[in-house]
Amino acid sequence: MTEQPKKTLELLIAAPRGFCAGVDRAIRIVELAIERYGAPVYVRHEIVHNKFVVDSLKAKGAVFVETLDDVPDGVPVVFSAHGVPKAVPAKAEQRGLSYLDATCPLVSKVHRQAERLVAAGRHIVFIGHAGHPEVIGTFGQVPEGDMTLVETVKDVEDLAVPDPDNLAFLTQTTLSVDDTAAVLAALRARFPNIIAPQADDICYATTNRQTAVKAIAAACDLMLVIGAPNSSNSLRLVEVAEREGTPARLIQRAAELDFGWLASVGTLGITAGASAPEILVREVVDHLATRFAVTEREVETTRESIAFKLPRGLEAA
Ligand code: SF4
Repeated sequence: MTEQPKKTLELLIAAPRGFCAGVDRAIRIVELAIERYGAPVYVRHEIVHNKFVVDSLKAKGAVFVETLDDVPDGVPVVFSAHGVPKAVPAKAEQRGLSYLDATCPLVSKVHRQAERLVAAGRHIVFIGHAGHPEVIGTFGQVPEGDMTLVETVKDVEDLAVPDPDNLAFLTQTTLSVDDTAAVLAALRARFPNIIAPQADDICYATTNRQTAVKAIAAACDLMLVIGAPNSSNSLRLVEVAEREGTPARLIQRAAELDFGWLASVGTLGITAGASAPEILVREVVDHLATRFAVTEREVETTRESIAFKLPRGLEAA
């Protein structure tokens, strides 16, 4: 029996995609901590929101826990890239634990802005997603009641603030650029005197990955986003594609890919969230190649060259 020729599938691969400088740095911190102190090294919360990364670090000797109470005395602990409330390092110090802070420097920058604004007497309106660890960490930089969370334009309409003329806003780093612009417009319309140190704090990596998806979405019949369901920036990439009119699916690994989705797909877009390693993109492409005659084209909208310094004490390791 002669084998049927494979159906052709054109892949448009967005660039930039995948790991950002903050994720790279956070993973490196855990690896260097294990090299320097020996296993186990405890990590409070998933270092970045990706199961493959977490499992790889577990195999090297990292132990992931959700609270400091689960860290035994005398072992080092790393705080995740999303940042932590001030109470967490304070508690670690109280217990005499040595800790390494893998908070992304761009998240730390928002933390410092929050402190400065509150010190200047401003009430902060924070645009972000309730319950995300970055939001919990940023709220934990200022006294309770000095910051109010909004997620949507409707939240802005319903917002009650102590003094409408003494407000500032800050944002989570991994939001949708377009949704945030709408929320900001609503905030500025309702509170003309609201101030901000800059336009918003959505980071370069989030912005670049969303722009790269926008550049290819219209040419694709379906967009695959490789990332975790609890990864904020990955979820936003799904929304960006859908907003451009292209259906999108979030998958963590090639095994979650259903070939049935591709029945009427000629051009498939592929991207990956900031916490998804390139090896998972290759895994998906290789898996597709078992069923289709794939052609790959990378569409690069910008080139990134950002790298962050390691915390003091680890640079020379
Ligand atoms: Fe830092 Fe942005 Fe990466 Fe988050 S997505 S770790 S803020 S660079």
